[in-house]
Amino acid sequence: MTVVLADILKGRKSVAISGHVRPDGDCTGACLGLYMYLLKEYPDVTVDVFLEKIPQSFHMIEKTEDIKNEVIAEKPYDLFICLDCGDKSRLGFSTPLYEQAKHTVCIDHHVSNQAFADENYIVPDASSTCELIYTLLDKDKITRSIAEALYMGIVHDTGVFQYSCTSPSTMEIGAELLRKGINGSKIIDQTYYEKTYIQNQLLGKALLESFLILDKQCIVAVLEKKDLDFFEAEASDTEGIVSQLRLTKGVEVALFMYEMETHLYKVSLRSKEKVDVSVIAKFFGGGGHARAAGASITGTKYDVINQVTEQISFQLGKENKQL
Ligand code: 5GP
Ligand code: MN
Repeated sequence: MTVVLADILKGRKSVAISGHVRPDGDCTGACLGLYMYLLKEYPDVTVDVFLEKIPQSFHMIEKTEDIKNEVIAEKPYDLFICLDCGDKSRLGFSTPLYEQAKHTVCIDHHVSNQAFADENYIVPDASSTCELIYTLLDKDKITRSIAEALYMGIVHDTGVFQYSCTSPSTMEIGAELLRKGINGSKIIDQTYYEKTYIQNQLLGKALLESFLILDKQCIVAVLEKKDLDFFEAEASDTEGIVSQLRLTKGVEVALFMYEMETHLYKVSLRSKEKVDVSVIAKFFGGGGHARAAGASITGTKYDVINQVTEQISFQLGKENKQL
């Protein structure tokens, strides 16, 4: 069921907007796009955005300076809007605000989303949450700044209009956003392709030490905590490594993992056309989409690799039998 913005905002005096932990381009773009729209169109409503620290490159989007990185005890919000977050536990530090809010709405495109809020607008076929936000707004009231935020999100979740989640309407929305006068190539360059020296070094290390398994259908790369520490890198500096691994010719699944804490790995999975990685991520308590999913898994490096590749192997086995 769709959500009508005017309806969910009716009678609300305070609104909190939040997204998932380790916010990516789509999550950040959706939160800021909606935030800027509400600021302009609902001036009587108090609106706040709560997100963990965003990558430096996203600061070219307006109003990033308004993002709150912590919850200061206040009275409960009338409405909590949860964006791009496939499961409640992924709200992170803003969870108490969600729990206390008088009403909650979730807008998302993760196939693994179990519709956890009071009202849910979940469209797994949508390329991105930014695409969904676009459909909820009055097109004439979208400013250039809002368009920039939404464009960034669509660009990131479609791998620059490339992944299979890119539909004709994704392209049409992209075109409409460009018509708002945004500099699309600058957003793509500076928020998606541009890498710091450290990010490239990490990518290089991951690629150099990657290995092929499961009859060369799966590529695996691991970065340990000591590697991140050595480069003085943050977790978000690993963004994009799994997409590069996935490009390897002949590979169906890419598995990238980095050590968040001792014996706790953040696992990212990407597939090309056969394996549904959301099923695998869900098996380990995570989630995502058919072609891009993730989970946090405890164990030694070898435990995690063995467990995840076993699940990949089950699916590849089934696929191969069907051929
Ligand atoms: P990434 O591998 O880039 O972190 O995430 C790929 C996709 O899977 C994203 O849509 C992301 O939101 C989702 N995802 C990643 N990790 C988790 C997780 O631990 N739980 C859930 N539910 N989704 C995840
Ligand atoms: Mn998304």
